[in-house]
Amino acid sequence: MNATSNPSSDHQIFDSLRLELRRGCLIVAVLAQLRVEHYGYTLRKALAEQGLAIEESTLYPLLRRLEKAARAAAKAAYAPYSKFFVGAAVLSGSGRIYSGCNVENASYGLCQCAERTALFTAVASGERSIRAVAIFTPTAEASGPCGACRQALSEFGPEALVISTCNSSRRLESTVAALLPASFGLRNLRKARGAKRRRR
Ligand SMILES: [Zn+2]
Repeated sequence: MNATSNPSSDHQIFDSLRLELRRGCLIVAVLAQLRVEHYGYTLRKALAEQGLAIEESTLYPLLRRLEKAARAAAKAAYAPYSKFFVGAAVLSGSGRIYSGCNVENASYGLCQCAERTALFTAVASGERSIRAVAIFTPTAEASGPCGACRQALSEFGPEALVISTCNSSRRLESTVAALLPASFGLRNLRKARGAKRRRR
């Protein structure tokens, strides 16, 4: 059996591979563009539902500022036990940005997440609603907020946008409502109170 390669067939394979690669790059570029557009659409929709119409020209700079604030906050993270450093920043109802980091404790149960540090800082400053939260971890994969933080965020921004970024280009984009379906909130307490009154 002759095992020598056929130059013309090698060229054909190379050409077809190059074509496939070019097609692949084109598909990746189209998907990236669609993702950016979807990202903008998701945020504009989330913000519009919260009664804040925002121009596209101010949207991306605002998001970049939010993401940058989360990244900067991660530098202050106190995580000597988990070595999992997290920074978060919330965009409040007033349009201000508040950031926070995770703060651990030798008594592990007292560890505080970055999202809640940022959220509680906003609330302590008089804010009562949040429109978006950005989370940054210096890792290869982006991380969503833990269950406790989803509940805490839901109290002040059930429709808020959640953006997680990391050291790679991977990112998660969602909303608090999508991350915490059938959430528990004030309406449940009101319903329970109403039912109690009717029973009397
Ligand atoms: Zn958390």
